Amino acid sequence: MVSDSIGAVHAAACGGAPGAVSDAAHSVPCDAACSGTAPSGPVCVGAPALNGTELSEPASKVLRALEGAGYEAWIVGGWVRDAMRGAPSHDVDICCAGGWQENERALETAGIRVIESGTRFGGITAVCEGERIEVTTYRVDGFYTDGRHPEQITSASCVEDDLARRDFTVNAMAWHPERGLLDLYDGAGDLERGVIRAVGEPRRRFEEDALRMLRAVRFACRLDFAMDPATACALAACAPLLDAVARERVGWELDGILATGHGGDALIRYPELMCAAIPELAPCRGFDQHSRYHAFDVYDHIARVLTVAGELAAARIDGGDPSRPPSPSLMWAALLHDIAKPDCFTLDERGNGHFYGHPELGARKAEAIMRRLACPTELIRDACLIIRYHDLPLRAERTDLLKMLGLLSGEGLDTARLANELFDIKRADTLGKAPSCFYYVEEIERMREMVRELLANHEAYDLQSLALGGRDLIAAGVKPGPRIGELLKRALSGVVDGVVANDRADLLAFLKLD
Ligand code: ATP
Ligand code: MG
Repeated sequence: MVSDSIGAVHAAACGGAPGAVSDAAHSVPCDAACSGTAPSGPVCVGAPALNGTELSEPASKVLRALEGAGYEAWIVGGWVRDAMRGAPSHDVDICCAGGWQENERALETAGIRVIESGTRFGGITAVCEGERIEVTTYRVDGFYTDGRHPEQITSASCVEDDLARRDFTVNAMAWHPERGLLDLYDGAGDLERGVIRAVGEPRRRFEEDALRMLRAVRFACRLDFAMDPATACALAACAPLLDAVARERVGWELDGILATGHGGDALIRYPELMCAAIPELAPCRGFDQHSRYHAFDVYDHIARVLTVAGELAAARIDGGDPSRPPSPSLMWAALLHDIAKPDCFTLDERGNGHFYGHPELGARKAEAIMRRLACPTELIRDACLIIRYHDLPLRAERTDLLKMLGLLSGEGLDTARLANELFDIKRADTLGKAPSCFYYVEEIERMREMVRELLANHEAYDLQSLALGGRDLIAAGVKPGPRIGELLKRALSGVVDGVVANDRADLLAFLKLD
């Protein structure tokens, strides 16, 4: 790292505005920064803060313990980025001049517990007052997210070299309560402009670690940022490199993209990369639906459905907390609901396209895709249920809705949530078609309301919710055996068809057991 680079430092210490050089701030001369020893300087009084975000007391203690032992240390990564944006920051990462054993010793001497979490790569975890703080040694190697783990890491002599290996400018800033902000790549400028830009030459950085491409999209979606043009070009060109990345890492990042609620943007803006992540999406691109009900090809339709589903989650039409990320099963279902359309396409004699059987085949394909990406079993189960029934013809009619609830019930299933998500996907699916279909949204909301009432009234839709059980039948004189199951099913049909109320006495009378 060259000495001039320090000219790019923005200093913002003890509560300075993003990028502003406050009077209290001072940047360290490069020799000091590169010496790896902690320079002495004025100590902030009170909790140190960046742009109004206070560094937690445990993180301050860890930093002080390391520097007190003579090892320069900086706060790096997501905490700095988020604090600069004035957004709440979560975990704190510290990088430090000491080797991991030295850091460990320094922390333990200060009475801070240490977990040897990633010592192969120079990392330990400090546990201070219940908070976990990652501490890594300055190093020049990458992050090894694509399985190319080196035998040993190469440590770096200064923080600048450590920052150079980081992925994006907004993630490559370091901050210290006294020394201020070290921003060699204009991360602060990119934050202000709303841009994700690779540190260094984007193609080289993606060749080093292809997972960074999905990280770029995840951060762009999460922060609602644009992609710097050169980085965007490299994303398209390097997309095939994603094949080398372990599938579970791809699944993890995709899940992160979906959790932002802006997965639709990811599909539209970065189609090469998204199709590399899920190759089954590729045949959907440009696939004409030959239908007056569809204004978009299959891929663009999926993107719109994903966008609307994300917006629904943000608007929390289900009455939930809007700050919570959208339900993963809804997002995965939106992404994969029409994945089998190209396989199921037929054209009738009048030139109209049909996709018979696409929900069932789609659910099977989605299961295979999600398994490959190592998604959790329950997430796969829920998403595939929604996909299987997303096209189920439904009317705002009691029996229809109880039957639908029955389809979404079973051991371990949260039927009420799944029903809401089915209505979400139906609504999003409708709004992703042609405007002539939009009238159906009102019907969907009527059904959602009816289902809410049915559940509040404890109507039966499965044997669990039936007010009659096997024991009641035995008590009423029925011999244990297969007849019990048959009678319970008959009772359930009676309730679903509206012939009898979900009440034990009424149901016993309905079954005419004598
Ligand atoms: P989040 O809020 O998602 O935790 P983060 O920026 O803290 O965001 P992490 O995955 O926790 O992201 O990584 C911490 C820091 O490590 C990043 O800010 C970045 O500087 C660096 N980093 C992580 N993964 C990579 C990678 N694959 N290539 C380069 N740098 C990386
Ligand atoms: Mg982090």
